[in-house]
Amino acid sequence: MKEKSALQAIVKSKCPRCREGDMFSSSAFSLTKFADMPSHCPACNLRYAREPSFFDGAMYISYAFSVAIVVTFGVATYIIGGDPDVWVYLTVISIAILFFFRFTFRYARTLMLHLFGGVSYDPESIERHESR
Ligand SMILES: [Zn+2]
Repeated sequence: MKEKSALQAIVKSKCPRCREGDMFSSSAFSLTKFADMPSHCPACNLRYAREPSFFDGAMYISYAFSVAIVVTFGVATYIIGGDPDVWVYLTVISIAILFFFRFTFRYARTLMLHLFGGVSYDPESIERHESR
């Protein structure tokens, strides 16, 4: 089994301890299930919600992503559209926020668990889980 770097694990939304188990049970492109998470890592059995309401903190990360999207698409609309009417900005930014929501949601939770979960990488955790 090839080891993943922390960055690869974050990009692919893998468990921070084993970097093998998926944090989300469905694809980001599933309209109704993109937010579904198993309670524990399917590979090493790490409990994802490190404490009650752990993922509430992901809202702040999600907010930062949303600000970045608003600024990016606002500036792009200004440059491409030659400073159009306000409703053009609102429409472009609303569509962008709705389109990227599934990714901001999932990556906010992934970053929350990887950065603030207090979990270290432990490739042996899978074998310990399987031998039980
Ligand atoms: Zn795991």
